[in-house]
Amino acid sequence: MSNQKIAILGAGPSGLAQLRAFEAARRAGVENLPEIVCYEKQNDIGGMWNYTWRTGLDKNGEPVHGSMYRYLWSNGPKECLEFADYSFDEHFGRAIPSYPPRAVLKDYIMGRIDKQAILKYIRFECPVRWVAYDEATEKFTVTVMNHKTGEQEVDEFDYVVVATGHFSTPNMPYFEGVERFPGRVLHAHDFRDALEFKGQDILLVGASYSAEDIGSQCYKYGAKSVTISYRSNALGFEWPEGMEERPLVTHLDGDVAHFTDGTTKRFDSIIMCTGYLFHFPFLPDSLRLQTHNCLYPDNLYKGVFFQNNTKLIYLGMQDQYFTFNMFDAQAWFARDVMLGRIQLPEAEQRRADMDQWLKRYDGCSSCSDSIDFQAGYIRELIDQTDYPDFAVEKQADLLKQWQLDKKEGIMTFREKTYRSTVTGTLATELPSSWLDIKDDSLEGFMSLSFIERQEKLEHEAETA
Ligand SMILES: Cc1cc2nc3c(=O)[nH]c(=O)nc-3n(C[C@H](O)[C@H](O)[C@H](O)COP(=O)(O)OP(=O)(O)OC[C@H]3O[C@@H](n4cnc5c(N)ncnc54)[C@H](O)[C@@H]3O)c2cc1C
Repeated sequence: MSNQKIAILGAGPSGLAQLRAFEAARRAGVENLPEIVCYEKQNDIGGMWNYTWRTGLDKNGEPVHGSMYRYLWSNGPKECLEFADYSFDEHFGRAIPSYPPRAVLKDYIMGRIDKQAILKYIRFECPVRWVAYDEATEKFTVTVMNHKTGEQEVDEFDYVVVATGHFSTPNMPYFEGVERFPGRVLHAHDFRDALEFKGQDILLVGASYSAEDIGSQCYKYGAKSVTISYRSNALGFEWPEGMEERPLVTHLDGDVAHFTDGTTKRFDSIIMCTGYLFHFPFLPDSLRLQTHNCLYPDNLYKGVFFQNNTKLIYLGMQDQYFTFNMFDAQAWFARDVMLGRIQLPEAEQRRADMDQWLKRYDGCSSCSDSIDFQAGYIRELIDQTDYPDFAVEKQADLLKQWQLDKKEGIMTFREKTYRSTVTGTLATELPSSWLDIKDDSLEGFMSLSFIERQEKLEHEAETA
């Protein structure tokens, strides 16, 4: 073993990608691998994909990380997040539909993890409290609270990989009168079960994925009406009866919301779908990434190395069209730098490289441009490591199709099927409409009679 030591903060998909990258090197016979410790606040791996009924604080008094809810289904085609080294076919042994529920995707993420090989590196219930860097020794000191022993622990590392996610700390707006609203006011982070809002008139503030999806879930599970209030641009989908979009709320008067177009409406509950803050309470300003949710956070060379200290690595900090395979691309690249296989250029060249990407990002004017931008970013990373090549450009085309499918039917796009770019397998179809399938469990989903697309085409041809 080399005498290098690496701390990975967080065992969600990004942290697991980093562990898996080193494991792949070990399996390939690479010797002198560094010592790794992964600190995880929760008591399991999976990050955001661990569903929890809890909101507020966890059993250790730590802020609950999870923002996922019951009935959450993948919001993008699974073919665009497929691991290049572990296909859906390999995991499930048969074709499944393109948009699985959360539990199914979690099962897939976990399936790739060789628990015996990887769990030994992870210290559960150990939230990181502080990270400091000593210029003289060129080492990081990481302080964690070990809730299992009830004691704080301190250790020294050569590299720190921050993989703590950025969809967990609510950005909560204020509207005049909200403090006197008689119903429930919550942030999307604390939304758990759409059935809570059955029969209610609900107001969702925000016009991004959360509003779109939580609104659709509430509609699916019987909300009386869903109103989505946007600040600058409406989502613009053709909503079913009972769902609508209105411009921004100006204030609340009791249970009545006033909107900038002069209209009013009474509500039972308000859900703030107003995004998340990048929150690293364990980092001093000199090491802290300061950004908003975007495709190219500044000061991260190759989207991962902190410009002021390249031994500090951030994974998964981008806004995400691509997810798991992008985290892999980053983790493999970061691994190769830590192993000394890839040399980082000097600060000036790194700055020039980031500026060139930022300029390109500035030129993105449509969703398609942004998808291509992120695909281009991933391509640059995977071309430089031994991560199995995958057709990221074809996946970008699928993501563009996904955008069109959503425009065509926001309640039906999850019934579409796509072809895996990893195995060539065409996804099967759901046996009934997404709105009618209410059981989101792994067992419930896997016991559905999925329809082979080919069979369906043949049947249609026969009966025509
Ligand atoms: C509501 C919602 C729906 C989503 N739907 C999809 C989807 O359909 N498809 C998709 O691909 N992606 C989806 N995402 C994106 C999702 O965030 C990513 O798929 C993925 O979970 C990001 O992985 P990560 O490891 O970077 O972060 P996370 O999954 O957030 O994991 C971070 C980990 O760090 C740990 N941690 C945090 N702070 C500390 C600390 N101080 N010390 C130690 N550990 C710490 C956390 O406990 C957690 O385990 C969704 C996100 C949300 C919020």
